[in-house]
Amino acid sequence: MKTLLIVDDEKHIRMLYEEEFKDEGYTVLTASNGLEALGIIEQHPEIDLVILDIKMPEMDGSEFLRRIRQFNKDLPILISTAYGDYVQQDFSAWLSSGYSVKTSDLSELKARVKELLGQ
Ligand SMILES: [Mg+2]
Repeated sequence: MKTLLIVDDEKHIRMLYEEEFKDEGYTVLTASNGLEALGIIEQHPEIDLVILDIKMPEMDGSEFLRRIRQFNKDLPILISTAYGDYVQQDFSAWLSSGYSVKTSDLSELKARVKELLGQ
């Protein structure tokens, strides 16, 4: 069983993703910002993939990417953002494994997760 970490400041997004990915058979952990996510990753080395929002208080997704890549180069991190143009504008996006634009239909996001996990 694969473990995902969902990082998003919006509670309804965390709840939606958690429910949908649990239904797919994943173990799901959640964090509401980048700082909290770094702490959870430290405590849970079993995490296989991170789904990352960009706009968040405390520590945003760009800063999280820069920090985590200083000690973990390999963990797959998929950006999930409402702002598709972010990826062209922010070089930290290159530290991620790809991105998916937020929609209510999670089928593309689920497919990207599977692909990155080699499933
Ligand atoms: Mg956000």
